[in-house]
Amino acid sequence: MLVNPPRYEGIPVIREERCEITERYSILEPYSLLQMGALLRSQDHEVKLLDMNGFDLDWKELELSLLGFRPDVVLFRFTPTTFDHDIRTTSIVKATLADAITVGVCWTLRTLPKEVLSQAPDLDFYVQQEYEVVVPDLVHALYEGKGLEMVAGIAYRDGSEIRVNQAATPLKDYDSLPIPAFDLLPTLDPYFVTAPSGKPYTILYTSKGCPFKCSFCTVAGTKWRPKSAEKTIEELLYLKKNYSIRTVSFFDETFTMDRKRVERLCDAMVSENLDIRWYCNTRAHLVDLDLLKRMRKAGCRGISYGIESGSQKILDQADKCLTVEQGRNAIDWARQARIKTFASFILGLPGETWDTIEETISFINQTMPNSAEFNVAVPYPGTRLYEMVYGDKNVAAVDFRSLYQDDAVVGTDALTPQDLNRARDMAYRSLYFNPRWWWRNLGHVIHEPEDLDLATRYVIKALRNYLVYGMKHAH
Ligand code: SF4
Repeated sequence: MLVNPPRYEGIPVIREERCEITERYSILEPYSLLQMGALLRSQDHEVKLLDMNGFDLDWKELELSLLGFRPDVVLFRFTPTTFDHDIRTTSIVKATLADAITVGVCWTLRTLPKEVLSQAPDLDFYVQQEYEVVVPDLVHALYEGKGLEMVAGIAYRDGSEIRVNQAATPLKDYDSLPIPAFDLLPTLDPYFVTAPSGKPYTILYTSKGCPFKCSFCTVAGTKWRPKSAEKTIEELLYLKKNYSIRTVSFFDETFTMDRKRVERLCDAMVSENLDIRWYCNTRAHLVDLDLLKRMRKAGCRGISYGIESGSQKILDQADKCLTVEQGRNAIDWARQARIKTFASFILGLPGETWDTIEETISFINQTMPNSAEFNVAVPYPGTRLYEMVYGDKNVAAVDFRSLYQDDAVVGTDALTPQDLNRARDMAYRSLYFNPRWWWRNLGHVIHEPEDLDLATRYVIKALRNYLVYGMKHAH
């Protein structure tokens, strides 16, 4: 049984790949659970999915589903900030079906397996590495009663000991995976990103990993493994045929890593007449005007760039391998290609001062992306930033539960965590109170009337996030 735990204090939670956060205005399909479902079915297991986050169900529903389905194994994902909440899944499982085995998946805490298991007494197995490889091996070993020591990528209890097995080999061939088991969901109705418009909607991964070395990133230095354009089209056609899908977010870290693949994918979307509006994330130096125009023609309506900073010094110190100029061009070209831009920034990377923050705010005011998010730097375990903050200094790492991008836990040499929270507020204000920004987005809607519904809902979201929620659990 696959379980997506309930919302956290009523706030939806994203539990996907590197994105393990609360996000007030997005309800995403539990794509990785759907992928696990397809993999387990291909091993002839009977699978049920309970998406409590998506359908806003409470814990009682878990008990009822457990009693109805009586699973041998319960798999779920958890995040650092919602840890205690998510881990409650395991105590409910044990109290309801004492013999059921609990398996938790979380990417962000992969370097802290002992901490995870010692703080989750009813969690039997922690899947530290790529679930596509580890979960089928683990479930197979449990089913066959084989020794667990050969299952790579897990940590588990052995009496009073916690054992951490050898690292798993990363997934080699993304094309070899079956299409995620979307049919485990009763409907796609609840799902949207940012604003509930353009439904039916889904997220989708067309590649995995990112070889760049950004110091703050939890997937930095992992191999990029693509799905082929053909495999991606197969999945999109399946979604079109079975769900009349209208909007897709390609959640890959770096969608345009291989230009040829994107071109093939775009051409196939056009020739198959898919008529899907889609969004993607990528690095600003991996686009150009021609490619963006081709993407637009194939249905791309928005692109998210990790710009991180308007200061070259900060980008260089973070090993971002990007110039401010490249960020500027990427936003400009997307505008020319009539693709909306979402730019994300991090405040508080090493070297940050009020001057560099001012450079970032000026960058925003000059480039005017359609939307932006400002996060404070978070030293996630396993990143180089974590090593820089806690490595050689005699400072105890903070509780992983407090690692979220809306509230700084560390400062820089020049700025305190409180300064960074203030800088985040200043950055949002510089955008949301800028008449030019509103004017420009109004101009966009006049030229793209199909975006009117989305834009209206987006405005309500942005204002509520800022005025009502003070940008907590929000971007
Ligand atoms: S480019 Fe993006 S995904 Fe890749 S390492 Fe940097 S921040 Fe992470």
